[in-house]
Amino acid sequence: MDKIFLYNTLSRKKEILEPIAPPTVTMYSCGPTVYNYAHIGNLRTYVFMDELRRALKFAGYTTKSVMNITDVGHLTSDADDGEDKMQAAAKKQNKTPEEIAAYYSEIFFKDLARLHILLPEITAKATDNISEMIEFVKTLCDMGYGYETDDAVYFDISKFAEYGKLSRCNIEDALAGARVAVNAQKRHPADFALWKKAEKNHIMQWQSPWGMGYPGWHIECSAMGKKFLGERFDIHTGGVDHIPIHHENEIAQSEALEGHKVVNMWVHGEFMLVDGGKMSKSLGNVYTIDDLIARGYSPLAFRYFCMNTHYRNKLNFTFDGLNGAQVAYDRLRAAVCACKNAPKADDDTREKVIAKRNKLVEAVYDDLNYPLALGELWTMLKTPCREVYDEAEKLDALLGLSLHVEPEVQVEQIPDDVKAIAETRFAARQNKDWATSDALRAKLDELGYAVLDSKTDYELKKK
Ligand code: AMP
Ligand code: ZN
Repeated sequence: MDKIFLYNTLSRKKEILEPIAPPTVTMYSCGPTVYNYAHIGNLRTYVFMDELRRALKFAGYTTKSVMNITDVGHLTSDADDGEDKMQAAAKKQNKTPEEIAAYYSEIFFKDLARLHILLPEITAKATDNISEMIEFVKTLCDMGYGYETDDAVYFDISKFAEYGKLSRCNIEDALAGARVAVNAQKRHPADFALWKKAEKNHIMQWQSPWGMGYPGWHIECSAMGKKFLGERFDIHTGGVDHIPIHHENEIAQSEALEGHKVVNMWVHGEFMLVDGGKMSKSLGNVYTIDDLIARGYSPLAFRYFCMNTHYRNKLNFTFDGLNGAQVAYDRLRAAVCACKNAPKADDDTREKVIAKRNKLVEAVYDDLNYPLALGELWTMLKTPCREVYDEAEKLDALLGLSLHVEPEVQVEQIPDDVKAIAETRFAARQNKDWATSDALRAKLDELGYAVLDSKTDYELKKK
């Protein structure tokens, strides 16, 4: 097995991965709450999960990795307030929570496939693991970490001395930072719910030692991690937003129960921004993969766009940036494919190709530096030869970009009048007449065509 270095949020250091039971690497990734479409920010986090899993496999490890599907109990605020997200969506759409979960899960898995994100060995629905969660909460209560109130069972964070170690805030900070408790029965405002008691009209509820109810969000991951990966495992991933609450609470629950460290490495993906800011429905900038496809972009160009920024850096999404990624991706793929019929290299060139290939792999093993790896690939293409194609084909296990696969030739006849509009629009754009250019883009959009611009050219695609 090759050596892999990863940045561990817990130690704030890059560390060598030392699996508990090599060659297997055990890993848990927080999955989606399936009450809505996954947006491109969510999907960036799963591209990161995939980069990591592909690197582990390429290095010779066997991955045993779990992703949960949250289909109950994630409240509208991560701090345990508000309504269950699944229930809220069900009410709004006049469907059952099961229908909502089935619908959005199917689309989520389709999105993963379109982005060449390999499925974790185990994907598990929260609703299939309720008894494990109840058992977990019961044990925490027996050990004195959990306590019951009229509305829920809470975790007493003051009992877990290391609370806050992941985000490096101490218990005093957590207590001071928490809002005044709505529930006076809570021992501390920052205590979080392990189990919620259900009101009569709550749709999803299960029998428990505390009456009818449903699990808190954080307990899902602790209970499912324990069930599938055991009392210690190697890696836990998620987005950086989960560090201060969700993962802090997971650590508290799991380590309190086991009496020792459970996860060795916490690896977090940075956020995606849109036009430099937060994605939000009110700004109309929450895009899905289908939105990108409708505008003429390919899912793999989006994957390339994500891979070109290191997972620990913020990634600012703009359509200009995605345009650039689409153009670069198409060129890279065409260049790799062209090497299929290129002559074989002489010994000297072959050595250079292999040296670049090794640098590419090393970059990935060094905390998943895919941007550097892609750079090495571009330089490999400066000496086009059959070996480049062969290496790119083997490297697809690491990259997942299908660069060695000829894109399907689109035999589409673009009508002359459409072409003429596109030409006029391009001329307007070159003259920086943005109003005309935008109006003609809208016209083309109406006619079912998308335009991709690069600095010196454009491409017209049927949507
Ligand atoms: P959720 O379905 O809200 O639990 O989110 C699913 C995953 O997407 C989590 O790992 C989040 O950390 C991650 N996520 C949410 N918003 C973004 C974003 N803007 N950029 C990157 N990851 C995100
Ligand atoms: Zn989780």
